[in-house]
Amino acid sequence: MAPTPSADPRRRVLVIDDEPYIGRIIQLKLETGPYAVEVYQDGAAALERLRTADPVDLILLDIMMPRLSGFEVLTELRRLPGRGDTPVIMLTAKGHGTDREQAAALGASDFLTKPFSPKKLLARIDEIFAA
Ligand SMILES: [Mg+2]
Repeated sequence: MAPTPSADPRRRVLVIDDEPYIGRIIQLKLETGPYAVEVYQDGAAALERLRTADPVDLILLDIMMPRLSGFEVLTELRRLPGRGDTPVIMLTAKGHGTDREQAAALGASDFLTKPFSPKKLLARIDEIFAA
Protein backbone atom coordinates (compact mmCIF):
# COMPACT_ATOMS: atom_id res chain seq x y z
CA MET A 1 0.00 0.00 0.00
CA ALA A 2 1.30 3.44 -0.90
CA PRO A 3 2.06 5.70 2.02
CA THR A 4 -0.51 8.37 2.71
CA PRO A 5 0.75 11.69 1.37
CA SER A 6 1.25 14.35 4.00
CA ALA A 7 -1.56 16.90 4.18
CA ASP A 8 1.10 19.60 4.51
CA PRO A 9 2.20 20.62 0.97
CA ARG A 10 5.22 22.57 2.22
CA ARG A 11 8.78 21.38 1.56
CA ARG A 12 10.54 19.99 4.59
CA VAL A 13 13.78 21.67 5.56
CA LEU A 14 16.03 20.48 8.38
CA VAL A 15 18.35 23.01 10.02
CA ILE A 16 21.22 21.47 12.00
CA ASP A 17 23.16 24.12 13.95
CA ASP A 18 24.36 24.15 17.55
CA GLU A 19 23.50 27.85 17.93
CA PRO A 20 19.76 28.08 18.74
CA TYR A 21 19.66 31.65 17.43
CA ILE A 22 20.74 30.59 13.92
CA GLY A 23 18.09 27.88 13.74
CA ARG A 24 15.46 30.31 14.92
CA ILE A 25 16.18 33.05 12.36
CA ILE A 26 16.33 30.54 9.52
CA GLN A 27 13.06 28.98 10.64
CA LEU A 28 11.31 32.37 10.92
CA LYS A 29 12.46 33.41 7.44
CA LEU A 30 11.86 30.14 5.57
CA GLU A 31 8.41 29.69 7.09
CA THR A 32 7.37 32.94 5.38
CA GLY A 33 7.77 30.82 2.22
CA PRO A 34 6.45 27.34 1.32
CA TYR A 35 8.73 25.54 3.81
CA ALA A 36 8.22 23.67 7.05
CA VAL A 37 11.39 23.87 9.13
CA GLU A 38 12.66 21.45 11.78
CA VAL A 39 15.58 22.66 13.88
CA TYR A 40 18.19 20.39 15.50
CA GLN A 41 21.08 21.61 17.65
CA ASP A 42 22.87 18.29 17.63
CA GLY A 43 24.06 16.09 14.76
CA ALA A 44 23.17 12.83 16.48
CA ALA A 45 19.56 13.93 17.05
CA ALA A 46 19.31 15.07 13.42
CA LEU A 47 20.67 11.73 12.15
CA GLU A 48 18.09 9.92 14.25
CA ARG A 49 15.40 11.98 12.52
CA LEU A 50 16.99 11.29 9.11
CA ARG A 51 16.86 7.55 9.74
CA THR A 52 13.06 7.70 9.77
CA ALA A 53 11.05 7.42 6.56
CA ASP A 54 9.65 10.96 6.96
CA PRO A 55 10.48 13.06 3.90
CA VAL A 56 13.20 15.71 4.01
CA ASP A 57 13.59 17.98 0.98
CA LEU A 58 16.63 20.03 1.98
CA ILE A 59 19.18 20.21 4.79
CA LEU A 60 21.07 23.23 6.17
CA LEU A 61 24.08 21.93 8.04
CA ASP A 62 26.49 23.83 10.27
CA ILE A 63 30.12 22.66 10.12
CA MET A 64 31.36 23.73 13.55
CA MET A 65 29.39 21.77 16.12
CA PRO A 66 30.42 20.03 19.35
CA ARG A 67 30.44 16.20 19.28
CA LEU A 68 29.60 15.46 15.63
CA SER A 69 30.86 18.07 13.15
CA GLY A 70 28.88 18.96 10.05
CA PHE A 71 31.33 16.93 7.96
CA GLU A 72 30.71 13.85 10.10
CA VAL A 73 26.95 14.34 9.89
CA LEU A 74 27.17 14.77 6.11
CA THR A 75 29.25 11.60 5.70
CA GLU A 76 26.77 9.64 7.79
CA LEU A 77 23.65 11.01 6.13
CA ARG A 78 24.90 10.23 2.62
CA ARG A 79 24.99 6.56 3.66
CA LEU A 80 21.33 6.55 4.71
CA PRO A 81 18.84 4.94 2.33
CA GLY A 82 17.00 7.58 0.31
CA ARG A 83 19.18 10.47 1.54
CA GLY A 84 21.93 10.25 -1.09
CA ASP A 85 20.51 13.03 -3.27
CA THR A 86 18.99 15.33 -0.65
CA PRO A 87 20.37 18.84 -1.23
CA VAL A 88 22.65 19.90 1.64
CA ILE A 89 23.79 23.49 2.15
CA MET A 90 26.74 23.73 4.54
CA LEU A 91 26.90 26.70 6.93
CA THR A 92 30.14 27.94 8.38
CA ALA A 93 31.60 30.92 10.18
CA LYS A 94 34.87 30.34 8.36
CA GLY A 95 35.27 31.03 4.68
CA HIS A 96 38.20 28.67 4.26
CA GLY A 97 38.64 27.19 0.81
CA THR A 98 39.55 23.83 2.30
CA ASP A 99 36.19 23.67 4.08
CA ARG A 100 34.48 24.35 0.80
CA GLU A 101 36.46 21.64 -0.97
CA GLN A 102 35.83 19.12 1.79
CA ALA A 103 32.09 19.94 1.79
CA ALA A 104 31.91 19.47 -1.99
CA ALA A 105 33.90 16.22 -1.83
CA LEU A 106 31.47 14.83 0.75
CA GLY A 107 28.50 15.69 -1.46
CA ALA A 108 27.32 19.08 -0.22
CA SER A 109 25.30 21.01 -2.82
CA ASP A 110 26.18 24.47 -1.66
CA PHE A 111 28.15 26.40 0.90
CA LEU A 112 27.19 29.51 2.83
CA THR A 113 29.46 31.64 5.00
CA LYS A 114 28.04 33.19 8.19
CA PRO A 115 26.83 35.82 8.67
CA PHE A 116 24.44 35.43 5.76
CA SER A 117 21.28 37.24 4.83
CA PRO A 118 18.17 35.16 5.64
CA LYS A 119 16.49 36.81 2.67
CA LYS A 120 19.26 35.60 0.32
CA LEU A 121 19.12 32.14 1.86
CA LEU A 122 15.39 31.96 1.14
CA ALA A 123 16.01 33.11 -2.45
CA ARG A 124 18.72 30.46 -2.92
CA ILE A 125 16.46 27.70 -1.62
CA ASP A 126 13.66 28.88 -3.92
CA GLU A 127 16.14 28.59 -6.81
CA ILE A 128 17.12 25.04 -5.85
CA PHE A 129 13.50 23.93 -6.02
CA ALA A 130 12.75 25.93 -9.18
CA ALA A 131 15.62 24.20 -11.05
MG1 LIG B 1 28.27 26.01 15.13
